[in-house]
Amino acid sequence: MVYDAVERHLAVEKLVTCVSSEGMERKYYRFRRARWYGGIVTADCVGCGLLCRFCWVSDEALHHPVEAGRFYSAETVAKIMVQIARKYGLRQLRLSGGEPTLGKEHLLGLLELLRGRGYIFILETNGIPLAYDEGYASQLSRYDFVHVRVSLKGCSEDEFATLTGAKPENFKLQLNALERLVEHKVSCHPSVMASFSTRESLQKLAERLAGIDSKLAEDLEVEELILYPHVEKEIRKYRLKYYVGHPPNKVPPEQI
Ligand code: SF4
Repeated sequence: MVYDAVERHLAVEKLVTCVSSEGMERKYYRFRRARWYGGIVTADCVGCGLLCRFCWVSDEALHHPVEAGRFYSAETVAKIMVQIARKYGLRQLRLSGGEPTLGKEHLLGLLELLRGRGYIFILETNGIPLAYDEGYASQLSRYDFVHVRVSLKGCSEDEFATLTGAKPENFKLQLNALERLVEHKVSCHPSVMASFSTRESLQKLAERLAGIDSKLAEDLEVEELILYPHVEKEIRKYRLKYYVGHPPNKVPPEQI
């Protein structure tokens, strides 16, 4: 059934956040050193308001947020990330998904704890909470060590609906998020899952992005499908046709 992405984000947020004496806690299912960006400490959040059919996140973390992972305070997350960074000599930290912008108070608390410590912080998001919460982008602009990667789910309303099962018009929220980030001068760039897109639709997306800011079109990152076994299963289930996909052990270096 088609769902509304805003309603779903708000509903999932209630399941993956709670308030304790340590402030807002957020559910995570994993902390690790990852190979992306040349080596980066990564905290993986539970739960997302989209249900992308190519999502690499485990079935439990995406579809069963109540059971998956556990709650962590911002202070504990900061401690764990810094410990891993020290152990491996890394200067980059990342929140990935699930959707890490769910639980704004938790995220802003974490950024406050990491401010001024010499790290680059990559926030990987589908952008939707940054569109429906008007103040979010402005609040992120306080942290100059943050870079936001907004991951677009296809190049158009139709592709978005096919890939996520959400209302087609929700695609505009992803573009609105980029608009807000640019407006508030938050370092950001768009990426797009383009494995299901034609050259023409990619070109049209670049034109729409250029209409917001020419730099967004220049910086557009093309993301390609990684064929984890559970991803292949979902793609078959929904009979999605893709043009490019890579086995997990053969991801081209330019995609890492
Ligand atoms: S937005 Fe990201 S985390 Fe959420 S379902 Fe899509 S691919 Fe998965």
